[in-house]
Amino acid sequence: MRKKVIAGNWKMNKTPADAKTFVSENKAAFDSNNAEVVLCVPYVSLHAVQNELKGTNIKVGAQNMHYMKEGAYTAEISGEMLSSMDVPYVIIGHSERREYYAESNAAVGKKTKKALSCNLIPITCIGELLEEREQDLTFDVLRTQLTAVMDYLNEDEMAKVVIAYEPVWAIGTGKTATEEQAEEACAFIRKLIRSYFNHETAEKVRILYGGSVTPANAAKLFAMPNIDGGLVGGASLVPSFAQVIHHE
Ligand code: PEP
Repeated sequence: MRKKVIAGNWKMNKTPADAKTFVSENKAAFDSNNAEVVLCVPYVSLHAVQNELKGTNIKVGAQNMHYMKEGAYTAEISGEMLSSMDVPYVIIGHSERREYYAESNAAVGKKTKKALSCNLIPITCIGELLEEREQDLTFDVLRTQLTAVMDYLNEDEMAKVVIAYEPVWAIGTGKTATEEQAEEACAFIRKLIRSYFNHETAEKVRILYGGSVTPANAAKLFAMPNIDGGLVGGASLVPSFAQVIHHE
């Protein structure tokens, strides 16, 4: 049985003071024994949120990291820095990073590998653009993006990765993939892992859906056999995120 992961991606929202207040007011409602709940917050709020979450099962995560250990990379944060703060999760290769910061498939692969070597759990994002879906290229895009990650990993490392399938056309747009579309893509991702590694590894990997998840659609999406939870943007910034977490 794979434990579900419900991860909130706060993106560039909330000051550290706002983050602390929000978590303090909502942590009891967000806490869960059934799912792994993760709040991926801006770097500057990691410390405040982590302190506020003490005594709960909720975990904190970062939204990006560099694949180098240290050096002249102004404004970057390394995996070593995050693990020194006991941050357990990090989002890698979000489509906004790919689009606005030109993150390549190879960089996403290197970051995923580096996160694992720093004992962080990467939530590695893949997904197609609208025009790619319209041209029937979804599976090709997923294969290319995922292979670029798998090429850096052995099977034990792969088993620890959380993959987020995020169709770019569904992120922040209010357009959710239907549960059938999301399941089809997540099942395809699991099949790719099975053929690249093996059945056991593929069965261990948690595959999330992300893209306009809300309290209204979470239960149907998360009930699908190959969807092991969600990566949630806008809906994780408000108290009703509790309804996404406790969707049953
Ligand atoms: C995201 O940020 O990964 C995301 C899926 O955003 P939203 O839920 O707002 O579409």
